Amino acid sequence: MRKWGFNGSLGCVFCSCSLETSDHLFAECLLYRNMIQKLFGRSEVFTSLNSELGWMQQVFGSQNVKSQVGRAMWHSLITVVWRERCNRVYLGNCKDCDVMCKVVREEIIGLFGRNIYESFFDT
Ligand SMILES: [Zn+2]
Repeated sequence: MRKWGFNGSLGCVFCSCSLETSDHLFAECLLYRNMIQKLFGRSEVFTSLNSELGWMQQVFGSQNVKSQVGRAMWHSLITVVWRERCNRVYLGNCKDCDVMCKVVREEIIGLFGRNIYESFFDT
């Protein structure tokens, strides 16, 4: 972005610990990892978006309802994180991790219903 004349901050708006790259924003960032933990109940650590996509394919790659919920939740997570990133950059508004997770949960409950959402966590 510097080559294109962008003079603003290139750091992550969530943690300020790294450059804002897709790998950082959607894999490495502590906020994102916390959201994965809270939403999926998993503590996988991804080093890149590609490694995360591989995990998604492996865990939620089938057509059963649990996989559909998992993929939808991940898509919602990506959307919510990107929207929050833009809100912080352009509007200065900040939501915390729990509020962002609540947005994802409500979206999934709206799509699938509460019973199916809650059955996602059954073992
Ligand atoms: Zn970050």
